[in-house]
Amino acid sequence: MSGHSIAPYFPWRRMKVAYQSVPKGSRSALVRLEPDQRYRPRCHACGRPAQTVHSATRKFVRDLPLADFSLMLQIEYRKIWCGSCGGVRVEQLEFVDTHQRVTHRLAAYAAQLCKAGLSVEAVAHHLDLDPKTVKAIDKAALVAEFGQTTYDGLKRLAIDEIAVKKGHNYMTVVLDYDTGRVVWMGEGRQNATIDAFFEAMPTEVREGIEAVAIDMWEPYIKAVKRWCPQADVVFDLFHVVKAFNKVIDDIRNEEYRNADAAGRETLKGSKYLFLKNWGNLKREGRVQLEEILALNERLNTIYWLKDLLAHIWDYYYPGWAKKMLAEWCEVARQDGHPALVKFAQKLERHQYGIISHCKHPIHTSKLEGVNNKIKVVKRIAYGFHDLEYFALKVKQALPGRFSSN
Ligand SMILES: [Zn+2]
Repeated sequence: MSGHSIAPYFPWRRMKVAYQSVPKGSRSALVRLEPDQRYRPRCHACGRPAQTVHSATRKFVRDLPLADFSLMLQIEYRKIWCGSCGGVRVEQLEFVDTHQRVTHRLAAYAAQLCKAGLSVEAVAHHLDLDPKTVKAIDKAALVAEFGQTTYDGLKRLAIDEIAVKKGHNYMTVVLDYDTGRVVWMGEGRQNATIDAFFEAMPTEVREGIEAVAIDMWEPYIKAVKRWCPQADVVFDLFHVVKAFNKVIDDIRNEEYRNADAAGRETLKGSKYLFLKNWGNLKREGRVQLEEILALNERLNTIYWLKDLLAHIWDYYYPGWAKKMLAEWCEVARQDGHPALVKFAQKLERHQYGIISHCKHPIHTSKLEGVNNKIKVVKRIAYGFHDLEYFALKVKQALPGRFSSN
């Protein structure tokens, strides 16, 4: 072998480099590979050596770039008569699958780049491949790694929905609360969706689940009670605050509509003053909010309720949490606004899952972090109308802190 040979870059059995060319001024190189006649071809289907060569064939596949030239392989190979399969087959090539147009090593590199957080489009551009090819490569790598649900070690779960498209098309996400790993994702947010997750869960894991953090959403509540009756349901503060913010906004709008000109002037642009935390407001915002609260009794009550709501989740003693919840509901009832009374009734109905937070102080910030990360995945996943691919990307992005990934 000549010291100037490029053969060492193609260390594949039963193939040899026959020819290479780099057209003048071009950025792409062509390398032709031919069967090494010293070895007998093997059947791609069964792997057995073939006795008879039937005919010759060829295909072109993309390989890793060589220096800064993109590289095309022209592969001359053989069709054989396979006695074991009883038919004409192509010979086995160890570096590319029969139906693939890229080598294994190029596919592995593309999948690595996708894993590192590059978008499919960026990888396609970088390697001069079709985005569809890159997506298929990435998806195949993801299926191999995350295609199966891993139920090991689950004790505390968080179940949440995410909107895949604005306003509709939901997916359910199941998180291992203790590691932050996304365990499972399914289309929809109904009973059938979440039942599918629990149904496939091994019985001993199901019986060992201690707590599940969820929103006050009936299908999730029902599923936990049905499949893990021993587990404590914990209602997630993040969701309760979000729901109450909606009530605040509706009532603030109503107060605006009912106010006189001067009242409207004070309330103008105050939406975010009510939704943000006091600590995050600028000085002018605080002044405006204080003025509103001094002038409007109902909004003053609501603001106080908003503050108190989060404190119900601060307690470690169920008795105190229960007392605080009762106080909250009493104040809401005294105000008498139907939306507040309704919210109080909802909290009372779900009291068990609010009090259980004392036993399982599961923190809501983790769910917010997950949702933010999912938004990033949504942006980079090519064609996220492929929900299966999107779910695999989310699993890859949130492997959990004890994972080797
Ligand atoms: Zn065969």
